[in-house]
Amino acid sequence: MADLPPSVLVANRGEIACRIIRTAQRLGIRTIAVHSDADAGALFVEMADEAHRLGPAPAAESYLRIDRILEVAEATGAACVHPGYGFLSERAEFAEACAEAGIIFVGPPAAAIRAMGLKDAAKALVARAGVPVVPGYHGAEQDPEVLRQEANSVGYPVLIKAVAGGGGKGMRRVEREAEFLDALQGARREATAAFGDPRVLVEKYVLSPRHVEMQVFADAHGHVVHLFERDCSLQRRHQKVIEEAPAPGMSPETREAMGRAAIEAARAVGYVGAGTVEFIADGRDGLRPDRFWFMEMNTRLQVEHPVTEAITGLDLVELQFRVAAGGRLPFLQEDVRADGHAVEARLYAEDPAAGFLPSTGRLWALDLAEGNGVRIDSGVRAGDDVSPYYDPMIAKVIVHAGDRGAALDRLSQALSETVVAGPRTNVALLRRLADAEAFRRADFDTGFIERNLEQLGVAAAPLDASMVAAGAVHLVRRAQARLAAATSLRQGARPGPWRVTDGFQLVGASSRGLLVTADGETLELRVEFDAKGPRVAGASEDCTLVEAEEEVLVLRDGRQIRVALHDPFDVDLERLDQEGAVKAPMHGRVVAVFVEPGDLVEKGQRLAVVEAMKMEHTLVAPAPGEVIEVAVEVGAQVAEGARVVALKGVSDE
Ligand code: ADP
Repeated sequence: MADLPPSVLVANRGEIACRIIRTAQRLGIRTIAVHSDADAGALFVEMADEAHRLGPAPAAESYLRIDRILEVAEATGAACVHPGYGFLSERAEFAEACAEAGIIFVGPPAAAIRAMGLKDAAKALVARAGVPVVPGYHGAEQDPEVLRQEANSVGYPVLIKAVAGGGGKGMRRVEREAEFLDALQGARREATAAFGDPRVLVEKYVLSPRHVEMQVFADAHGHVVHLFERDCSLQRRHQKVIEEAPAPGMSPETREAMGRAAIEAARAVGYVGAGTVEFIADGRDGLRPDRFWFMEMNTRLQVEHPVTEAITGLDLVELQFRVAAGGRLPFLQEDVRADGHAVEARLYAEDPAAGFLPSTGRLWALDLAEGNGVRIDSGVRAGDDVSPYYDPMIAKVIVHAGDRGAALDRLSQALSETVVAGPRTNVALLRRLADAEAFRRADFDTGFIERNLEQLGVAAAPLDASMVAAGAVHLVRRAQARLAAATSLRQGARPGPWRVTDGFQLVGASSRGLLVTADGETLELRVEFDAKGPRVAGASEDCTLVEAEEEVLVLRDGRQIRVALHDPFDVDLERLDQEGAVKAPMHGRVVAVFVEPGDLVEKGQRLAVVEAMKMEHTLVAPAPGEVIEVAVEVGAQVAEGARVVALKGVSDE
């Protein structure tokens, strides 16, 4: 077998597809992307050497279609298929189907996936290999009464887990016996809905739990190593939010014991490729060699693999390709070194203040602080849509520095420079986490986020008036600029004295009330006009303003407010004052007047024509309004800037 496969079909999307393609291209491997209709214009499709459609947006009709993916693989002559994470990555049938089609599956043998696929069987298997597992009941019996008895003998609190579980679904913590049966019912319902399998197991709920996992790597020649641990204890609803390597408080003895256990678990299933063995540790007195227990093994590349890459200097995707092509791991355990500290934060399009609901839509701006020890893994660009069909992750921000404190400083800095406009994000939460004092002291466990939601700023905050004001000023300025552009366009936009950009001006300094909509709330602001333009008292000077069609997105400190003019006709200036004047663009003679006081005019309607230098210039209404004055007569000479017609906004107060 050659050293590397000549081509790869990437059976995934988004950031992980981009991540795989990047390494493949560096290694000279031809890349083949497959995509759904929703992703036809996605970054990974653009990056790949070729791309093929799978089907409509829903994953079941595209990214989960084994038959379609293999059709493309065969038609394109793909040497291997990389499944990424999620989707088909842990489906033994997919690995088998690839093998049958004579295409290398970049992952472990189907049997290893299957052996680790069900939590109860996996536990029994690794326990036989001498790996510590969480005390509990992992048996076949599913009778509620029996399970309750088992829970009683394990001792409360206990955790009910779906046997087929994943992503924290079908999991319930139970504090006391009286709550057990209700919780069991809930876990079963969820497990049935998510996995079509109601079976559960019961285990001891570990107090002060820390999630510490070991990256393992095995080749097909019986060689298994670990690449150190990652701490993924900052979670919300059992989903990882921030991960780091090494784990704070990890002693060499614990690392040694955990590494050995992970390698044993991998060996027990004949593992090949990249895998992660997840442990739960009791972190009450630091991480101790006798206080961690196997939870499960993920038989694929993990979302948080970049922190391991950062500290080891290895490219795990490259190793996956080499091992999949039959190569040997190019190092021994003792050659693997860790350098410094790495942290990854998952930047999500979600609204923490609204129960972390995904927040989809157009990314009007996306500026991620890359470089200087900051790596960005992302699958989207400014202008892309965050689709409701898939995981709403925008990017992974990965930092590497000499020690943990410096890495967290770097993360905080990178997050403060991050600009995402459009969907709401968790960027402010991530930054507060990076700065949280207790987390900095490594005094944390998997309940940290949930316990500190308020201090972490996860609450619906009242509208910030200074941000709304800044948005309003921007919208008024924009309206003025558009109006000026429209005016000069009508007049031929000729350079020199003929170019008049303020054919419709406010008379002197003035102020008026302006209705704006801010995050759906209607507010009235006072706008002052003078020679310097519009002003609103208290407007923030240090926010970022991003145009989003009729709205402006006002960003500061990870917060975003959408500001729009309440009435779209407010974009025209005459409603910014009680009265507006249409002025002569140049010295000339009035050759026609089309309106009289009292007339109601439409936007763009002709008002008068002024002739100068043998050219006619038509003055039009910049907005709908009522003519309140006609200051000239046909045949009269007018000076540049002289008032020709005065209008009043139709719906003015
Ligand atoms: P899933 O496969 O659904 O992600 P896991 O078994 O990996 O479920 O557990 C997910 C998370 O739940 C862990 O990272 C940990 O935070 C928590 N957890 C799991 N088992 C226990 C336990 N016995 N005690 C305390 N917390 C646990």
